Amino acid sequence: MSSTWHILGAGSLGSLWACRLARAGKAVRLILRDPQRLAAYQAAGGLTLVEQGQAQQHAIPAETAAASGPIHRLLLACKAYDAERAVASIAPRLARDADLILLQNGLGSQDAVATLVPHVRCLSASSTEGAFRESDWQVNFAGHGFNWLGDPANPAPPAWLDELVDAGIPHQWTPDILTRLWRKLALNCAINPLTVLHECRNGGLLEHRCEVATLCAELADLLKVCGQPEAAQALGEEVERVIQATSANYSSMYQDVRQGRRTEIHYLLGHACRTAARHGQPVPHLERLYRRLVEQLNARGLPSD
Ligand code: NAP
Repeated sequence: MSSTWHILGAGSLGSLWACRLARAGKAVRLILRDPQRLAAYQAAGGLTLVEQGQAQQHAIPAETAAASGPIHRLLLACKAYDAERAVASIAPRLARDADLILLQNGLGSQDAVATLVPHVRCLSASSTEGAFRESDWQVNFAGHGFNWLGDPANPAPPAWLDELVDAGIPHQWTPDILTRLWRKLALNCAINPLTVLHECRNGGLLEHRCEVATLCAELADLLKVCGQPEAAQALGEEVERVIQATSANYSSMYQDVRQGRRTEIHYLLGHACRTAARHGQPVPHLERLYRRLVEQLNARGLPSD
């Protein structure tokens, strides 16, 4: 079986993974959006990773989805709202024994992708690493963190985890990846939308403790109802800890809105509200928060789906 890492999406996280794997000597190929993006990438000469102020360029080969040849391992590194379309474009090249690693934040896109490619093993990742694009094809590794990987349908770890060790990508295999994804979603729902509505840094929410606590209580009840009691444990305390520890930071959603970029709200707060409705679980404060956020996005001319 080919051991090439195909990486779809050379944005922040995709570039971070691609550069670390390439510098560890692993075979990596980027899959870019279209011939224009491919030409721009080729003109730049490669991907540059900036780490602790040091920039290093990696001339990683790239192609578009329209190239030929089977893919046995694909890291999907686009945003949640692009995941289905991106996978549909590459589906004919995915081998029957392929592993598809989904890096998307939130929930909902993973199931949608798995339905599109039922012959492929879909693994999910939950990452606390932080990276941002300084410019096209140049990514800054801003926050060290960790990656949890797992497959809700199959607890057996894949053989290629050793390659992540070689590449210095911190990770752990967990059969409870859904719990991780739900916990991260809940933290996001309790913090990020409020930072947009109150136009504040994470620490600004210390002045809105009651509002945060009400959301945490609803989220914890929802997690229990939808079979994720572990993700509900001490949620309020962790949210408070995260707010304190990141008080000087602007949340990712705040930054997206400020910079006029589409958010992943549909896969975060939207997913929480849809799941609650499916279970008949009342979540009035989450629903109100969702409505206010959608209004705010619409007022700024940003999509809310
Ligand atoms: P990003 O910087 O916006 O990168 C996404 C990339 O996907 C872009 O380069 C985009 O191409 C590419 N793309 C979209 N559709 C494509 C297609 N059909 N074919 C090829 N490429 C396609 O996003 P990101 O920050 O890396 O985030 C990716 C996911 O990781 C998100 O769900 C995010 O929430 C999650 N995450 C990110 C971080 C972080 O620190 N950045 C941390 C944890 C989790 P163009 O460049 O052509 O637009």
